[in-house]
Amino acid sequence: MVKRDQIPTLYLVLPCYNEEAVIDKTSRVVRDKMTRLMKEGKITDRSKALFVNDGSRDATLRMLHDLAREDSFYGVLSFAGNYGHQSAILAGMMEARHHADAAVTIDADLQQDIEALDRFLECYMAGCDVVYGVRNDRNTDGFFKKMTATAYYKLMHFLGSGALTNSADYRLMSSKALNALAEYPESSLFLRGLIPTMGFESDIVYFDVKAREAGESKYTFKKMVNLAMDGITSSSIRPIHMIGGLGFITVLAALVMIVFSIVDWANGNAVQGYTTSLIVMLILGGVILVSLSVIGEYVGKTYMEAKHRPRYIIDSVVLRDFEHPNEKNDDKA
Ligand code: UDP
Ligand code: MG
Repeated sequence: MVKRDQIPTLYLVLPCYNEEAVIDKTSRVVRDKMTRLMKEGKITDRSKALFVNDGSRDATLRMLHDLAREDSFYGVLSFAGNYGHQSAILAGMMEARHHADAAVTIDADLQQDIEALDRFLECYMAGCDVVYGVRNDRNTDGFFKKMTATAYYKLMHFLGSGALTNSADYRLMSSKALNALAEYPESSLFLRGLIPTMGFESDIVYFDVKAREAGESKYTFKKMVNLAMDGITSSSIRPIHMIGGLGFITVLAALVMIVFSIVDWANGNAVQGYTTSLIVMLILGGVILVSLSVIGEYVGKTYMEAKHRPRYIIDSVVLRDFEHPNEKNDDKA
């Protein structure tokens, strides 16, 4: 790894979906933290907080625009609709790569410990292009989320994904890594699984997770299941191979059954066995349907990808340049 000798211009990317309850506090905490980092000479004073409004239906966007109007430290990128957390952080990073040397994505509720930024920056200065945030524990999660998350990461690893267990979308990427990420055209995104496959110099920063202070989780059960499915289908086709294995086992079992049935028939007791036939039929029917749905999932995914639809539509960007306070505001619509 080659050490860096220039401090970065850092963009902190915060996705927001109906976050009116936390914007005030978050913006203050972020401002304080980044100002401290600037004073300590860890980031340049051109660094910014870039909020990405993911089609909020509450006062979020108005509040963000108020912030940006008062203080050019805040930038606001706003989507035309709700495209989801992954799209929001991607859009923020794609905007950031044009202005910053590094971008860190963090949830707008600041559940992830913002104090860990110092360690992210240390890794960056040491030469890392990607720094993964990994949560220390899952004590703030409920029992259900903890169980499902653990099982999910086990499954992901079994399927060959390189996603780090308990890694969050709290991550630093250098502009080099961001430019590489921009080359990935796929529309279904699971950044946690995708980024490790790029293979840059990387390191891990462990951080604590706090409970959400205000508002509710914006990750509904449905959104979480979708993300989990995306994670699997966008990074591995092993489930399809496993169907092949399942078919092979079924054929073997069928051969054994055939031999037994023929022996039975030869011995003259062929009519019995209604229950057995029924069970076999039901199991086979179930296996076939599940297999079809797995394949269908991939076919659907292929269909969606084949459309080449944009991943998100940007409605407006407000980014005022720090360096030229006299120039007209650089509000791009
Ligand atoms: N989020 C988003 N779009 C969505 C859902 C969530 O941009 O459709 C944002 C949300 O505003 C927050 C982050 O993603 O900044 C994580 O969401 P949340 O805190 O609700 O999830 P949890 O921490 O409960 O997993
Ligand atoms: Mg949260």
